[in-house]
Amino acid sequence: MNRFEIITGDLTTVSTQAIVNAANNTLLGGGGVDGAIHRAAGPELLEECRTLGGCPTGQAKLTRGYQLPAQYVIHTVGPIWQGGEANEEQLLHQAYLSCLQLAVEHGIKTVAFPSISTGAYHFPVNRAAEIAVSTILDFLKTDDTLEQVLLVCHDERTAIVYHIALDQYPNKR
Ligand code: ADP
Repeated sequence: MNRFEIITGDLTTVSTQAIVNAANNTLLGGGGVDGAIHRAAGPELLEECRTLGGCPTGQAKLTRGYQLPAQYVIHTVGPIWQGGEANEEQLLHQAYLSCLQLAVEHGIKTVAFPSISTGAYHFPVNRAAEIAVSTILDFLKTDDTLEQVLLVCHDERTAIVYHIALDQYPNKR
């Protein structure tokens, strides 16, 4: 089995050990995948998030998963797209990397990501997909503890873009 897979579906139903939340800097809930994760996890997730004091863009913090099938939620904050001159690409790379590093630090073996920043934060999907795929696959080359990393796209159009990025790796960065 490949250690990295792109699938289409609802991240809140995925039973990897951890799922990644594309949160905002407050970690106090939002729309999109964040709203879906909080609804599925129940109110205790928000209670734990209140104790974390927010999260800078590009970093990540861990909570329990409560009512989710996943044991943990790794909350990260992707950049808001502002046209490409505001360090957005590096910050998106850093967001994926922070999640992978946090997972390894906690002995997590299986983790599922959403397409960070490509919803309300408007990062162009094709460039975001290249960054996500290259960051994850470069990381897996250096790590032998993670057994499975999923990229869960909510719709087929997004999944097609991620599959193209995977086909083109490692030629593009
Ligand atoms: P951001 O603010 O980082 O852009 P969003 O949640 O608005 O985050 O969007 C990120 C991606 O998550 C989008 O591609 C959106 O379609 C997707 N998404 C929304 N709900 C879910 C879900 N339940 N499972 C997986 N992906 C989801």
